[in-house]
Amino acid sequence: MSRYPKPMARLIEELTRLPGIGPKTAQRLSFFLIGLPRSDVHSIAEAIVEAKERTRLCSQCFHLTEEDPCPICSDPKRDHTFLCVVEQPRDVIALERTRSFNGIYHVLHGAISPLEGVGPEELKIKELVARLGPDVKEVLLATDPNVEGEATAMYLARLLKPIGVRVTRMAHGMPVGSDLEYVDEVTLSKALEGRREL
Ligand SMILES: [Zn+2]
Repeated sequence: MSRYPKPMARLIEELTRLPGIGPKTAQRLSFFLIGLPRSDVHSIAEAIVEAKERTRLCSQCFHLTEEDPCPICSDPKRDHTFLCVVEQPRDVIALERTRSFNGIYHVLHGAISPLEGVGPEELKIKELVARLGPDVKEVLLATDPNVEGEATAMYLARLLKPIGVRVTRMAHGMPVGSDLEYVDEVTLSKALEGRREL
């Protein structure tokens, strides 16, 4: 039997579903939330529900967006001949922060990982190939510099090069085994500048 009142026990249980939140932290957070004024709690709860309901995937690049197509895809000032392939929406946000890339994106929503049972069919690869018309001149593979990211880049290079598009990869100098998201902006900008042809 839980020592907590039932609604609080439920809150703790729900919070432990969040990444990085163990039972101890969930208990601490629930005490904190219960101690907040009612209006603050409503505001937090509403923000979660609204973010979920009003955020969807762009039908072109599969980045998270409120409008479809997303502001990047519908921006005529961006270079629509230059397509950058990333694993996750958070990688788009990391690259946008550098202000060094003016092309458009394609989000795969993962990387090939035989160990975790993720094959090419589970990723937005068909959709990527479908986007490659004569207008796209270069595809930059900006998957993470770890085993899965490299395997995905190799797979894509083999798939895309016969189509006749220029395929490039972020330069070395990226910390090996890292997550694009956590690479600092200067390193990321340099890796973009020094990209190499595959
Ligand atoms: Zn988009």
